[in-house]
Amino acid sequence: MTVTEVDANDVRNVIIVGSGPAGYTAAIYTARANLNPVVFTGSVTAGGELMNTTDVENYPGFPDGILGPELMANFEAQARRFGADIQYEDVVDVDLASHPKVVTLGNGDSYRARTVIIATGSAYRHLGIDGEQRLSGFGVSWCATCDGFFFRNQEVAVVGGGDSAMEEALFLTKFASKVYVIHRRDELRASHIMAQRALDNDKIEFIWDSVVTHLSGEDKLHTAGIENLKTGQRSTLDISGLFVAIGQDPRTELVKDVLDLNDDGTIKVAHPSSQTNIDGVFAAGDVIDPTYRQAVTAAGTGCVAAQDVEHYLINLG
Ligand code: NAP
Repeated sequence: MTVTEVDANDVRNVIIVGSGPAGYTAAIYTARANLNPVVFTGSVTAGGELMNTTDVENYPGFPDGILGPELMANFEAQARRFGADIQYEDVVDVDLASHPKVVTLGNGDSYRARTVIIATGSAYRHLGIDGEQRLSGFGVSWCATCDGFFFRNQEVAVVGGGDSAMEEALFLTKFASKVYVIHRRDELRASHIMAQRALDNDKIEFIWDSVVTHLSGEDKLHTAGIENLKTGQRSTLDISGLFVAIGQDPRTELVKDVLDLNDDGTIKVAHPSSQTNIDGVFAAGDVIDPTYRQAVTAAGTGCVAAQDVEHYLINLG
């Protein structure tokens, strides 16, 4: 169905784009407020980044931890319980300035709503080096949980010094014979507990002050070129897997031409509210947060956005 005419009956109260902790929390709150939200989860990204995680140990309420995909399945079930309309579709276009706002899906359908919550999260950062794209899926990966299994008894490397890199490296020790962690400084950014676990693990070897300069291999990854930034020394590392864990960038492709962004690429909101520069458009989760980026903080801003929508609709009458 392609919408060509505005029929008031078709206009939803709220469309939520994204299905990580922010999107689903917004869905739970708006559904409980009887606003009948529709959530577009994304076709392959449904559940957001926690779908690529193993144990989540710091989400409050789960003293023994919970698997990322299980946590997201719980979020979804809770939103469904209150009647959220959850659709595993990709949003390909938005018209946020119009009244009502129009959201177009990959299958050609269009939906209209009085308000929209953008909760599109963030996307993995790439190294931007020779061989990275070509060997993506052939040894180069951004998800140890998804691909670690293929590297049983092989030597692999992880790039990065944050919590993600430590988590990837620790997970890979279950399969790989050896895991190098290549970090551009001599100090980790990761939290103390994650860093210590990695430093204590015999299978993990740190390559400090170094970057990967290029990747080689005919049809699959064979070697990584390494440069020590302090000494300038160049070397080659024989590995069959390279996991890139150097952070994420906010996913703003859909809205970057219409919503105001901050210098770091996140969507600008009128803190502490979730209001963007366009009336009736709200944003939540990693897409507005360059700093904290935790599941619990994303859920928190999803709750804020839901309440902002509720107040906005009340004021609309
Ligand atoms: P992050 O904290 O931003 O760390 C990114 C790491 O990659 C940094 O060590 C950075 O080096 C390095 N890096 C960035 N660009 C690079 C480049 N072009 N080349 C080489 N290295 C590069 O990102 P994150 O680890 O994905 O974590 C993001 C947030 O999620 C954090 O708040 C983190 O605490 C959270 N998180 C938590 C958990 C957990 O608690 N279990 C797990 C995963 C993530 P520098 O240090 O030199 O900047």
